[in-house]
Amino acid sequence: MRLVFIGPPGIGKGTYASILSKKYGIPHISTGDIFREEIAKGTELGKKVKEYVEKGLLVPDEIVIEVVKQRLSQPDCQKGFILDGFPRTLRQAEALDQMTKIDAAILFEAPVEVIIERVSGRLVCPKCGAIYHVKWRPPKKPGICDVCGSKLVRRKDDEPDVVRRRYEIYLQTFTPIIDYYRKKGLLIEINAAREAEEVIADLEQKLRERGILR
Ligand code: AMP
Repeated sequence: MRLVFIGPPGIGKGTYASILSKKYGIPHISTGDIFREEIAKGTELGKKVKEYVEKGLLVPDEIVIEVVKQRLSQPDCQKGFILDGFPRTLRQAEALDQMTKIDAAILFEAPVEVIIERVSGRLVCPKCGAIYHVKWRPPKKPGICDVCGSKLVRRKDDEPDVVRRRYEIYLQTFTPIIDYYRKKGLLIEINAAREAEEVIADLEQKLRERGILR
């Protein structure tokens, strides 16, 4: 099961990837996570990509492609993998085709308003990191962390205007990639404006229909 996951920030891609990754024993490979880890560890690679990542700019293709090539050659990728955040350019998509054969590109979709509703209700505790949602996982006392009693805050990234801007940037970046996989007949579109279990069940069914999952 060699999959590419595509979807706007806040759609829950990370959640879906981690559920499938555990269920089928295949790694979830997020290039963004790899870069953040390398930066935190202060490695050579981390130093090279730090400025790009911190400014939200694309890391040059040759660096990203090399990182993914290395990662896909690890033994845990034999049974398959879920790529998240890669490819982001046509050059990366073509390079991926040279490395391996992708079974499907999964496009998770939801109207931007749904994403805004989801993420704008999210509250985090700045002290202990606990995460809440005003609608789905409210704290016992409004605005106060159940765990440590601190005042809960909204992340800057979760503000509606920021979510809207990131959605626009996502569309600009990924439209050519989406078209690339659609033309190859590899695109599977999934409605993600519903509960995670339903999203996963629908995805599994579509993978079975295509003989990717047994
Ligand atoms: P993400 O967590 O996927 O939003 O990635 C965080 C940051 O890592 C991006 O803003 C880019 O700076 C960098 N990055 C991650 N994946 C790629 C990629 N495929 N191509 C170029 N830059 C990337």
